[in-house]
Amino acid sequence: MARPIVAIVGRPNVGKSTLFNRMIGQRKAIVDAQAGLTRDRLYGVAEWRGREFTVVDTAGLDLDGAKDSSRAAIEAQTKIAIDQADVIVFLVDVRQGLTPIDRDIARMLRTSSPHAGKSARREAAARIERRNLIVAANKADTPNERHLAHELLELGFDEPSLISAQHGLGVGELLDRALDALPPPEGAPAPGEKADRLAIMGRPNVGKSSLLNALLGDERALVSPTPGTTRDPIDTELIFDGVPVVLVDTAGIRRKSSSRDRLERYSLLRGIHAMERSDVVLLVIDASAGVLAQDQHVAGYALEAGKGLVIVVNKIDLVEPAMRKPAHWRKALAPDFKFAAYAPVAPVSAKTREGIGALMPVALEVVGQRRIKMPPNELNRVLREAFLQHPPPTFKGRRLKLTYATQASDETPTVVMFVNDTGLLHFSYRRYLEKKIRERFGLIGNPLKLVLRSEEGRRPRARASK
Ligand code: GDP
Repeated sequence: MARPIVAIVGRPNVGKSTLFNRMIGQRKAIVDAQAGLTRDRLYGVAEWRGREFTVVDTAGLDLDGAKDSSRAAIEAQTKIAIDQADVIVFLVDVRQGLTPIDRDIARMLRTSSPHAGKSARREAAARIERRNLIVAANKADTPNERHLAHELLELGFDEPSLISAQHGLGVGELLDRALDALPPPEGAPAPGEKADRLAIMGRPNVGKSSLLNALLGDERALVSPTPGTTRDPIDTELIFDGVPVVLVDTAGIRRKSSSRDRLERYSLLRGIHAMERSDVVLLVIDASAGVLAQDQHVAGYALEAGKGLVIVVNKIDLVEPAMRKPAHWRKALAPDFKFAAYAPVAPVSAKTREGIGALMPVALEVVGQRRIKMPPNELNRVLREAFLQHPPPTFKGRRLKLTYATQASDETPTVVMFVNDTGLLHFSYRRYLEKKIRERFGLIGNPLKLVLRSEEGRRPRARASK
């Protein structure tokens, strides 16, 4: 089920990343604890009052690699947010008051993107009308700063939320407002949602559209010629070896090559949307370029969002024959993707088609592994044995005790453990238990969520991990 997107827009230095970190809160810390994932993430999953949504700090959106804070870049980021976000938080600095750039952004938010097509413009305008825009006045650390907020009303939007992202003041109320503005949660999946859903993701020029064409060119792939009424025209539906498959948001991948406007190009935020609608992410990296932070970020987000992951190493025709084997890449990529060691690695060349035939079966296997049922008897036996073999360490004289474990009915493989005290599970022991569960049940390509419930009635703690 796709999580809605909340985007933070605003000029540099108003505190976007501080607010981002506040909103992600504990979840961020959890994912960052996984060794090997770099910290400067720009999007993550937040949870507020039981609802999950994706938060994006637009400042970092990679627009064809142009990571600058020029006016043009800020405008571009804002337009992407208008296009893709369900709720926009427009952040300003209450102490500095309104600057010309703030006013520019406000104007864009009011009128929406002049480059967008007619229907997109109407849609965007409607979105703003639905009050899915929240102005937040940051750096209101003391009551003295609060009177400055009046100036912000001249922007023509609703009353701003006064916050101090740094001190956490007003952030809860802001999240309440954001939550109220989100579209209602999706219900049951539509027909056709049953198909295995794959999202092709990656930086510009790694070969996503070439890969798409290579996959569609496979003789086992039958592309549906007429999109039906319930189907999304941005997706590509096919039957692969008799299995219905949806390649999510292929329009976003194709469109970029024919477009004049770089905004129409395949943006990261658009990719996040695609990822949210998928079961498994095919993260494409370039064999000749190596791993970049952004590649890791995408993998980290797939982990956090609970999606399956296949790392596709494209352009292997450009490297030595010895470097075209899966074993080589598994080893070479391990340090960069420590936190996602469960992901299979598929070296391919979209150009020569080497490895292409094996990719779809791997991806479909990962979807299949998501749906594995762990019978309660077996799951409890595996965990009991793990506890016996290697008992948990004591902590302040107490030891973690497991009463019972069961699989939760979640899209992401999830095991719920009822224990004496959730605070007694150490990180390394969690790793150990996960390893034992994986040894028995596989779950290849998928994150495994271990949720602890305490009999003392504490709040559950979740953590997605390898
Ligand atoms: P996208 O931006 O990720 O969709 O990347 P494209 O599919 O447009 O490819 C970017 C460039 O890489 C193009 O010039 C492609 O011809 C080239 N390319 C894509 N796949 C391969 C490959 O497997 N081998 C080589 N040598 N070049 C490739």
